[in-house]
Amino acid sequence: MRDLRIAIIGAGMAGILAAIRLHQKGLKNITVYEKADRLGGTWRENTYPGLTCDTPSHHYTYSFERNPDWTRYLPPGDEIQAYFERTADKHGVSQLIRFNCEISKLDFVDRKWQLQLTNGETDRADAVIAATGVLHHPSHPNIPGMDVFKGATFHTARWDHSVPLEGRKVGVVGMGSTGVQIVSALAGKAEKVVHFVRNPQWIMPVDNGYYSEEQRELFRNNPAALAKEMDLEGYASNVQQYTLCLTQPDSDTAKQWQQACYDNLEHSVPDAELKERLRPDHTPMCKRLIFSPDYYQAIQHPQARLVRADISHIEPEGIRTSDGELHELDVIALATGFRTDRFMRPMQIVGRGGLDLETYWAERPQAYYAIAMPDFPNLFMLNGPNGPVGNFSLVEIAEHQWHYIDQLLDKLQSGECREISPTREASEQFNEERIQAAKSTVWYTGGCNSWYLDAQGIPSSWPWDFERFVREMSEPRYADYDMR
Ligand code: NAP
Repeated sequence: MRDLRIAIIGAGMAGILAAIRLHQKGLKNITVYEKADRLGGTWRENTYPGLTCDTPSHHYTYSFERNPDWTRYLPPGDEIQAYFERTADKHGVSQLIRFNCEISKLDFVDRKWQLQLTNGETDRADAVIAATGVLHHPSHPNIPGMDVFKGATFHTARWDHSVPLEGRKVGVVGMGSTGVQIVSALAGKAEKVVHFVRNPQWIMPVDNGYYSEEQRELFRNNPAALAKEMDLEGYASNVQQYTLCLTQPDSDTAKQWQQACYDNLEHSVPDAELKERLRPDHTPMCKRLIFSPDYYQAIQHPQARLVRADISHIEPEGIRTSDGELHELDVIALATGFRTDRFMRPMQIVGRGGLDLETYWAERPQAYYAIAMPDFPNLFMLNGPNGPVGNFSLVEIAEHQWHYIDQLLDKLQSGECREISPTREASEQFNEERIQAAKSTVWYTGGCNSWYLDAQGIPSSWPWDFERFVREMSEPRYADYDMR
């Protein structure tokens, strides 16, 4: 068995998973490179008021480290961050992480990846695991006048906690899950919350109840009670149904999910005029569904206001909309999402024969089964392009992907080969099938623009159902791999 040197890039949920799994496998020569000073990825960077994951808490955990201590049905951001920190400590991988170390370049030279760090250091690894995240690079809108605003402005992933909110007028731009969670958290707390919404989104109701101390005690002491709460089979079936709604938007199941969104708006907002202003013009699930227990209530709060007019520009006193109205504000929070086409970039990645990732991704980011790319041997991605991203646990997705990657690493470890990457033919065929399938999904047919679409307007996420994903991740199709 070869003693592989493996570099993991990113100490978020997926990078920690990879480190723990390699550590459990007995591999000793592992380094996790993390550009920030703390692990946690998304959950380190997002600290905005109301931060919550919309996946049930007990499913937003690693399969080998369940957490009986979640306080709510949907996990609050600070509990998720604490969970990842203590899990990394408990499994002995915290000391494998090198913080404040950003990789600027990966170069495949003499069957090894050569790593260049921004601090001038270098390293060499037999394999690289890119766990660099999806929703990572903030998307800043180009609104004229941003620099003349007298108050505070920040992107929601860079929340400035030194700025007080109580007694202040807060503008929130954007109605993805982030904007919805912030408006729900601030309505009634800030003097005024003004929600600037260009296109409203559909909202699925969810009961975000609390777990009592008695329940948590029970989960701690009784694995059967925790297993019952988790109901793995029921959850898997829900995820499968959900993905069928995405891939078969005209099916009866999809119609039921859509109806639940229509009913939520219908029954939660009595005011007919407000209801119409909150009504999206696309099919539910075309954009990633928002699960919220309280947004419709929050936006009806006397100190909250929905603004549908387009933003014209920003002035020293606030935001001026296209109808001429000036909305006076003290704080502007940009809940305007992320640049979801970045993935491993801005790292420069040069594979076999000098092939540059920018060239390979010139048309769109793509990866064979979301894991690997031809001519970039021994480079494997977790939550890379074309993988499933949606209203389900990305922890579970990463675990399935790890199961697959682990089998590729076995080929390197056993010495069966020194380089492994999918063939060009297999990658092209996968990509063609994927694009064809993507055109039947609700992301494509549902009449909306969203971050699921690539620059060519093709949905970039996994376009098939969840069961197919699990099946494909169970074992690589080795005939599709070039092993040298
Ligand atoms: P997002 O879903 O991409 O939403 C961005 C919002 O900003 C949209 O409403 C968009 O409007 C608006 N926007 C962008 N540029 C604008 C501009 N120039 N002027 C006015 N409005 C503008 O971003 P997000 O809410 O941060 O969410 C990102 C992803 O993270 C989503 O998939 C979200 O579901 C996920 N997320 C998940 C959780 C969770 O609980 N798991 C929590 C938070 C976020 P248009 O629709 O008109 O483009």
